[in-house]
Amino acid sequence: MSGRKAAAAIGAGVAAAAGVAFYGAQIPTAQIYGRTVCREPGASKRLCLTYDDGPNPAWTPTLLDLLDEHDAKATFFLIGKWSEREPELIREVVARGHAIGNHTFTHPTMPAKSDERIREELDACREAVEAAGVTFTEIAGRKLMRPPYGRRRPGTLRVLKEKGYLGITWSITGYDWRESITTEKITRNCLKAGEGDIILLHDGFDREPAYDRHKSIETTRNLLEHYRPQGFDFVTVPQLVEAAGTGSRYAA
Ligand SMILES: [Zn+2]
Repeated sequence: MSGRKAAAAIGAGVAAAAGVAFYGAQIPTAQIYGRTVCREPGASKRLCLTYDDGPNPAWTPTLLDLLDEHDAKATFFLIGKWSEREPELIREVVARGHAIGNHTFTHPTMPAKSDERIREELDACREAVEAAGVTFTEIAGRKLMRPPYGRRRPGTLRVLKEKGYLGITWSITGYDWRESITTEKITRNCLKAGEGDIILLHDGFDREPAYDRHKSIETTRNLLEHYRPQGFDFVTVPQLVEAAGTGSRYAA
């Protein structure tokens, strides 16, 4: 459903206020609480794979090899508490040409937290990543950040901006976080992607550092084998924005 249709579908009346608040806070393509990058339709045959909740010592290395095999770049949204344990792995992610962003230190639901707690989460994750000798990738001078669960409210985005971050959401999700979902179903969900879409997958899990992500990795292989022969390039989120020429829209 397009953003406009979704907003219209919420309808009028007493339920509308609550509905709109939910819509802006939860739907990844909603822009009413401030601009986030969710897709770039002007980027022609380019797609972004994004991976949340790592680094994962059991699965991220396999994923890096698979991406290399297909000459694909991706964007990783790192959890600080895992980054602290895997400095070498996140250096490797960057060395292979991928983009990295902040996904908080402990993965809280941000709208439920105070501005001060959000600042602390952002800072602690950044310190863990910088201790490994790498820095978050930027768009128009703002560091990439993905709110856990895609959830945000006006205050969340204000704190992000104040701390020099740009929120990155997505337009396609594989729903690979659903425990009983099959690789086939995750793949089918992702095959809805077209020019300029940003796909959400996971290489990690916020509650377990080496969580089994083979279904997400197999899905990645299916997507690369499907889209690469059609002439699609897999690029990082900053590369997607650059190709679309919309960088100035996101300048601080
Ligand atoms: Zn997450």
